[in-house]
Order: sequence, then structure tokens, then C-alpha cells
Amino acid sequence: MKREFAVIGLGRFGGSICRELSEEGMQVLAIDNDEDKVNEFKNIASHAVIADSTDEVTMKELGIKNIDHVIVAIGDNIQASILTTVVLTDLGIKKITVKAQNDYHEKILNKIGADQVVHPERDMGKRIAHNIISSNILDY
Ligand code: ATP
Repeated sequence: MKREFAVIGLGRFGGSICRELSEEGMQVLAIDNDEDKVNEFKNIASHAVIADSTDEVTMKELGIKNIDHVIVAIGDNIQASILTTVVLTDLGIKKITVKAQNDYHEKILNKIGADQVVHPERDMGKRIAHNIISSNILDY
């Protein structure tokens, strides 16, 4: 059975997750409150909708409750990211991954029930540093 995902926020990070999951054959519901972003993903995701993810009624109407894993990729607007996470935990979503903007944001996300918190820039920086070290070791 195909797993179902929702990606909220279609910026560079959320957009890349949405593309990758779709290319891997997953069912993806793409959500953004910006019409242009949603149009960009109309032919990529299984469904792409314009919606404000902080609005619980709208999220319920979208049937988000039935989705296995929701990724919240709203970075700059920390308030919207936190509120969206609260809406999702209240709706009982099984797995919620959220992009954090800074350590304070991460702390709050963990407290309100995010299952996984990621810092894309920091995590990628670490990974690249380790890659540089291992390739230097191989070079000697
Ligand atoms: P990235 O760092 O991944 O490139 P970005 O800088 O393009 O992200 P962000 O401000 O982090 O943009 O927001 C990511 C996306 O989330 C944007 O496309 C924005 O329209 C969307 N977004 C912000 N608030 C909401 C909301 N309340 N509901 C739905 N989408 C939202």
C-alpha cells in the first residue's frame, strides 16, 4: 500500500521533500497558502491545495487526519509553524516532522509534540563536514 504524506510549506526545503516523495511514488498532499507555490506543485504532488495550515477547520476538511506522516516546512514564520504543529497534534496525526529555524523554536516544537525536529542547514553542514573529513582521510 502506498504511504500517504502531506507537506505543508512549499519553499526550497518543503518543495524538495515533496518532489522526492512524489518521485519515489508516494501519495503526497502539498499545502501552501501561496497560490503560485501551489500551482508549481499541481503536476508533481498527488494533490496540491491552497490553505492556511493554522486553521484547524480547514485542516480537518482536507482530511489531514487520515495521513500517515505530515511534514511542516514553514521556516520563517515561526508562529505559523508552531500553531500548525499544535493543530496537527490536536488532530492526532501519527507522525509529525517539523523544520526548526533555531534552538528556541526546536525546544517549543519538542514540547508541543513534534515527533521529529530537523534543522536542514545545520544538519547538512554537519554531514558535509564529516564527508570532508572522511575524504581527507582517504586522500592520505
Ligand atoms: P525555505 O527556507 O525552505 O526556502 P522559504 O524561505 O521559501 O523556505 P518559508 O518562510 O520558510 O519560505 O515558508 C515556506 C513556505 O511555507 C512558503 O511557501 C509559505 O508560503 C508557506 N507558508 C507560510 N505560512 C503558511 C501557512 N500558515 N499555511 C500554509 N503555508 C504557509
